[in-house]
Amino acid sequence: MRTHTALHVLKGAVQKVLQVRWTAGVWVEGLNGRLTVLADRNPTQQELEDIEREANEKIREDQDIVEYTLDRNEAENRWGDSIYDMFPLPEGITTVTVVCIPGWNVNCCKENHTRTTGEIGRITLRKTRFRKNKNLLEISFSVEPGS
Ligand SMILES: [Zn+2]
Repeated sequence: MRTHTALHVLKGAVQKVLQVRWTAGVWVEGLNGRLTVLADRNPTQQELEDIEREANEKIREDQDIVEYTLDRNEAENRWGDSIYDMFPLPEGITTVTVVCIPGWNVNCCKENHTRTTGEIGRITLRKTRFRKNKNLLEISFSVEPGS
């Protein structure tokens, strides 16, 4: 749950530093995770440091993570398509759960999350891989208990 929630915090930081928008995939196993976003280049070392610092600042702020379950149209009116990842929800789905870290990340998500960002602990970026032919940037990270 902490590693999954870390994906939302990391996505906010990646959006802010790299101005990317779409998540192409996520993977979580234990305390290790990987976020894959659509990007047009490999980030610099400085940008990676900025992403890690921004994500951990958001954790230190210990912000509430708010979940809304609401009508899909209402959610789209409120947040637009920023709640979606690259692969849209099937047409038939009329009620959605939206996970919101206010001012940071908003996303349709049915997984369980920590109550606050502080419960995540600490995010450490491990490695990145840019797949140029697909414009996909994979960011691997791990989560450790906070001090
Ligand atoms: Zn989630």
